[in-house]
Parts: sequence; structure tokens; C-alpha cells
Amino acid sequence: MSKHLADYNSRPIEIVSGEGCFLVDNQGKKYLDFTAGWCVGNIGWRQTEVGEAIKREAEAGRYAPAFLRFANQEKFAKRLTAIAPNKKISRAFRCTSGSEAVEFAIKCARAATGKTKIVSIDGVYHGHTYGAAAVGDACRRMAPCAPGFVKLALPRNADEGRAVVRQFEKILAEFSDVAAFLSEPVWTNAGAIVPPSDFYPAIHKLCKKYGALLIMDEVATGFGRCGKLFASELWGVEPDIVCLGKGLTGGYATLGATLVTEDIFVKSRGIPAYSTFGWAPLDLAAAMANTEIILREKLWNNAQSVGDYLLKKLKVLETRSYVGEARGIGLLIGIEIVSDKISRTPDFARAVRLQNACAEAGLLIETAGNALFITPPLILSTELADQGAKILLEVLTI
Ligand code: PMP
Repeated sequence: MSKHLADYNSRPIEIVSGEGCFLVDNQGKKYLDFTAGWCVGNIGWRQTEVGEAIKREAEAGRYAPAFLRFANQEKFAKRLTAIAPNKKISRAFRCTSGSEAVEFAIKCARAATGKTKIVSIDGVYHGHTYGAAAVGDACRRMAPCAPGFVKLALPRNADEGRAVVRQFEKILAEFSDVAAFLSEPVWTNAGAIVPPSDFYPAIHKLCKKYGALLIMDEVATGFGRCGKLFASELWGVEPDIVCLGKGLTGGYATLGATLVTEDIFVKSRGIPAYSTFGWAPLDLAAAMANTEIILREKLWNNAQSVGDYLLKKLKVLETRSYVGEARGIGLLIGIEIVSDKISRTPDFARAVRLQNACAEAGLLIETAGNALFITPPLILSTELADQGAKILLEVLTI
């Protein structure tokens, strides 16, 4: 347990090094890493190209204050906006984390539309800062929460999806001050829940009809996790604003970004946008190298094929009396742990027990609510998928 670090959540495993899909703790125990640091290390650990890029930048010994220009920032913004899941996106705000990326999205949506309300899905995490906590599910013990946020229930099937869309239209029709709908394209933190396929097209259509923006939080799903470079592509929607973090860095940098269209950029002039460490040279060098590796290797293709392979193997777990569902897309997989299969009552304690038993057996996984949360690096081979699946099948006994 930490004595000085303000830490409420860490497990008693101290990591000292990594290599590819493996991590080693301070006892010398080697773990197959099925977390990638929660959708962060998409390219795997100890990636030497990234290490070399960081070394080169360190030798240049520079810092880039926001009031001076730095060529790599413009270069990276150009790269990110060119690959964004909306051809109209042309600008990238610099920031240091996923939470900050979500804050920018909220600020821009309100400034650009002149409206206030942000509608989102209940039970989904979008970050720990005041705006991100209020739009997500983290507004606890920090009253009063930031105002102007409306939540809709998370749909678990096509019928529920249509009901949520109807409710969204009711809100849009009743209030004239809805600035945006903000959501993850696939609900990662809620336990790897894939939306019904007609959900986002319908939501986007309503946004356009009523002059609201669509904001996709791709902090966890972006950079290949769900079998596409960006998971928004799965639904054929082109968000007006995209939030990036996690996989944008591979874990080698402290960096985030908010991508917006030119129109939103112009209308947002005047919002607070100064970030002292946003895209600082060392972080930028690491994130640029990480991004090029993902694009060069097209890691989303591996995420899709090995993800399909792994999920197929894990589907057999649905025969267990305490597994509600094995679900997911790409290398984002959730195994729902329940105390009763019919009512699907969550069994949080059992999920944690299973997670710990996996660690004992040399497999690191996380939990998201009552789901075992499986998000390996996107370089995972089928052999390593087999190795992890074998442990999961042994630990989740009949
Ligand atoms: N959005 C999503 C979808 C996330 O998963 C997270 C982090 N778990 C955040 C935002 C916040 O990112 P950060 O921790 O970098 O502030």
C-alpha cells in the first residue's frame, strides 16, 4: 500500500519492466498483459523506435511554450487531422490527457453552438476533471457537479437503443439549448458494450436536424482498439469533435488532443486553450513515433483478426453458471460476471476474485464494473491469445 502517494485503487503488483505483451514485477514474476495499461499500450512495451525518438528529442534539450511556434506541433496536428474520422476536421487542440481532451470538447461545443446542454450516456467514464466527471459517471464526492449535463440510459439491445434515440429527440425538441451529444463509439468503461448498429447513425441524424454537435470520446477506442483506426468508423458517422488520449501515446507520453472542424475552431476563439505541457517536445516525439508505428503496421487489422479469434475462444465461458455474456469488438472484450444468469445480477466481488486468480496464474486483466475487462496490446499474436485464453478457461472453472 502506498504510504505517501495519494493512491486509492492500485493492486499490490509492482511493475518494473515490460517487453512486447509482457510485464515483469519486482519479484521477477512475468505476466502476460491483457490490459495494455487500460487501452494505452497499443504497440506493446519497450518499443525501441519510440525509445530512440525520445532519446533524439532529449538531446535537442528544448521546451515549446504556447506563445512560440514549434514545427513538430504543426506537423503532428496535420497528421492527426488528416487521419481523423471526419474529412471536415482540420484543427487539433494540444493537451496532456484524456480528461483534458474531453474538457476541450465541452468548451468548444458550447462556444461554437452558443448552447449549453451536453447529452451523454449514463454509467460511462469520460475523465476526472469537473466537466469530464459531470459528462461521465465520475461526479462523486465533488458536489456541486458542473451543471448543464443530461444523461440517457445505456442501451443494451436494439429495442433499448431505439428508445434512447426517441428520448434524445424528445430532449432536443423540448429544449433549444442542446449543444452536443458526447459518447464513446463503443462503451469501454461500462464493460466493453457494443452499441446496436443503428444507434449512432440515428443519433447523428438527430444532431444534424436540431443543430447539435456529435462528439466522440475516442480516448480508449482510438488508434485501432476496435478493429478500425477510430471506432467511429464502425458506425459510418463523422463526429464534429473527437477526443484522443491513451493509445495516442502508447504509454510513452503524457498527451491528449481534441480534433475539431474549422468552423468549430473559428467559433471557439477565446476559450481558455493555454496548456503549459500540452504537446511538450519529449511527449510529442514519443506520440509521433507511436502514431507512425500504428499507421505503418495497420494495427487495427491485427486487433480485428486476433480479437475475433480470442472472443470466439472465450465464448465458451458463457456455459459457466456465473457468466452472463462474453462480448466485445476487436481487442476490447468483456466477460460479464453475474450471480444469476436469468436476472443478470452483477457479481462484482466474484469479478475481482477471478481477476486476482488470473494474476496468480500469470495473466493481467482488469475489471470494468462486473465485467472482466480484456484489452491486450494490439500486437497480440494468436499464440499469445491462446496462452491467455487457456489461463482464463482454467481460472473460470465450471
Ligand atoms: N475518456 C475515456 C473513454 C477514458 O477511458 C478515460 C480514461 N480511463 C478518459 C476519458 C480520461 O483520460 P485520462 O485518464 O487520460 O484523463
